[in-house]
Formats: sequence, structure tokens, C-alpha cells
Amino acid sequence: MVDIVIIGAGVSGCAIAREVSRYKADVLVLEREEDVCCGTSKANSAIVHAGYDAANGSLMAKLNVEGSRLMPALSKELDFPYENNGSLVVMVSEDDRPALNKLYENGVANGVEGLRIVERDELVRMEPNISDQAVAALYAPTGAIVCPFGLTFALAENAARNGVRFQFDTEVTGIGKTDGGWKLSTTRGDVEAKVVVNAAGVYADKLHNMVSEDAMTITPRRGDYFLLDHSAQGHVSHTIFQLPGKFGKGVLVAPTVHGNIIVGPTAIDIEDKEGVATTQAGLDEVRAKCGLAVKDVPLRQTITSFAGLRPMRPAMSSSSARSSPALWTARASSPPACPPPPPSA
Ligand SMILES: Cc1cc2nc3c(=O)[nH]c(=O)nc-3n(C[C@H](O)[C@H](O)[C@H](O)COP(=O)(O)OP(=O)(O)OC[C@H]3O[C@@H](n4cnc5c(N)ncnc54)[C@H](O)[C@@H]3O)c2cc1C
Repeated sequence: MVDIVIIGAGVSGCAIAREVSRYKADVLVLEREEDVCCGTSKANSAIVHAGYDAANGSLMAKLNVEGSRLMPALSKELDFPYENNGSLVVMVSEDDRPALNKLYENGVANGVEGLRIVERDELVRMEPNISDQAVAALYAPTGAIVCPFGLTFALAENAARNGVRFQFDTEVTGIGKTDGGWKLSTTRGDVEAKVVVNAAGVYADKLHNMVSEDAMTITPRRGDYFLLDHSAQGHVSHTIFQLPGKFGKGVLVAPTVHGNIIVGPTAIDIEDKEGVATTQAGLDEVRAKCGLAVKDVPLRQTITSFAGLRPMRPAMSSSSARSSPALWTARASSPPACPPPPPSA
């Protein structure tokens, strides 16, 4: 019997695998795809959020701020690309001033360091391609960007070096309770485990509903993007968000750690958990919105477009609705407790 089985090798499953690799436990990650980072973790905005927009008092607010503080040291320790480029939430109508102030106050309450509101003159000096309509922005100097592949692979490699086993091409198809824990049916045979961690992203509801009468539903929310060539590098240097307000929610324009520019995403609820194809309508929406905060976005330099799926729980508000990994233990009082050695790398 395995001590801990983690279902899913996205950024959540790999981060958990690395964390539990500090303990003397037999840990197995089961992933239905052929490698780590094949799900949502490979298709997102790559932002290390500063933590100003998550609802004050929420777990997300706490983890955003803590994660943002931890990321510089983690990137050095595990050697993955990270850049502290700062972020700007741009307001394009004076009518939205109360919303900008509210965001600032929420960020301060969440403990985000260095937040301030910058007015147009300073904004233009910081970002010469800021749109002519831009009035002011919330500046978060702790905002950053990361390589999502680099992060996920680095976490997985460190976990593997510390003894965690990864088994790919293995889909968990059923879960049942046993006396000592759980029995998982997979496409490559059965596995017994004392503890199961559900980190299956948009499929976490399917696994959850195999063991709980308290059914949950995860709706995929698709985000479409353009990725621009290196020749567009420098068009913006900060991550530029639009303040949700009079003109809708907006899209971001941001540099990537590899020297590209990313533009997007949309937020379209769909039913298909495999629906990662972009649509003309989605890309048209990004095209229409991106000029609101940044002028002359060089979309002709597009080298590819892609989409990712956010796992959303429809009954909850968006700041708390994203699904987070669940832990099932055989007996809550008997975790695999062992002295925590430092990670080997
Ligand atoms: C458009 C968009 C933009 C985003 N932007 C940001 C951002 O800028 N910053 C940020 O921090 N977050 C962002 N996110 C959120 C972030 O990408 C996700 O929270 C994160 O990637 C979720 O990781 P995960 O490991 O939980 O899920 P996933 O990466 O989806 O991993 C789940 C894994 O489980 C596997 N799996 C599923 N079912 C089974 C099964 N039955 N058996 C075995 N394996 C299974 C899947 O194959 C997959 O590999 C964004 C998301 C989207 C979609």
C-alpha cells in the first residue's frame, strides 16, 4: 500500500508532491497524460499575482500574497525563469476611480507591499505605449511573471529527486473506500493508498463525486490568447491589466519570461473539459479589448494562439470559486508523520 497517491501532475499536484517529499513517505503521482504540465498549468497568463484582488480574508488572498513572497527564492532554489516586472491595473474612465481605490484598499488589507496609485503622467513614463484613454493605474511592484512549464517541471523534478514516483499514461477511473484507506482503479491496474490527494484540475469534480455524496460541479472557463513574436518585445514591460468597470472586464497585455508578449484571455464558460481550441469569436474579443489599456498592440506579430481552461465552481463567487486540491485520508488522525528533512535540491 502506498502512503500518499496524488492524482494529477499539474502545478498543484507537483507542488504537493514536492512538499510531501520532505517526509519519509511512499508517494506516487498518477497522471493520465504522458508528462507533467499537460493540463491547465501549461496554458495560462503566467502571472505571479501580487494578491490585491482576492477577497480580503479569503484563503486565496492569503496564498496569493504568500506565494508572491515565496516565488523569488523558489525560482533561485529550483532554477526556473521568474521576473519581477510589476503589474499595473489601468483605469480608462474617471468614473471608475472608486473601483480603483477599492482595489488599492483591498490590496493593502491583504498585506500586498508597495501598492500605490500612479496618475497618467507617471504611467506614460513607466509605459510609453499606454493607451491615450488611460487615466491612472494601481501599481503593484511585487507582481511578477514566471515560466509555468519551468515552475511545474522544477517542482516535479525536485520531488522525484526526493523519492516521489511519477506514473504517466495512467488515468484514475474509480475510487473506493477500504479498511486502511482507498482503492483506486486505473487504466494500468489497481493501486491502494492510505491518503489520496485530488489535484485533477477541471476533472477534480469527477473524482470527488466518486467518493462523496456532497456532489460538486466544475465548469471549465475558457481563456483565449494571442502570443506575439520576440519582435514585439518591449511594447510593454509591466503586466498590464484593465480595471473591470465601465468597459467590461478587459484583457491583459504582458511580457513573458521568454521575451514574447501575451495578450488575453477571454472568460467563456463551456461544457467540454477538453475544449481547449480557440474560437474566432474568442480571439475577436481579445483583439477588440486589448487596445483599451495599451495602444497599437502589434497583433500582426502573432506567432500562435491558444486557450486554457480555468476550473470554476459555478455556485461560488469568482474570487473563491477556483477549485483547490482536496485531501482524503483513511483516518484524519493518522497522517504519515515523519521528521521533515530539507529537500535535496
Ligand atoms: C486562461 C487562464 C489564465 C490563468 N492565469 C493564471 C495566472 O496568470 N496566474 C496563476 O497563478 N494562475 C492562472 N491560472 C490558473 C492556473 O493555471 C491554474 O490554477 C493551475 O494551472 C491549476 O493547476 P492544477 O494542477 O490544479 O490543474 P492542471 O494543470 O489541469 O492539472 C491537473 C492534472 O490532472 C490530470 N488528471 C485529470 N484527471 C485525471 C485522472 N482521472 N487520472 C489521472 N490524472 C488526471 C490532468 O491530466 C492534469 O495534468 C489561469 C488559468 C487559465 C485557464
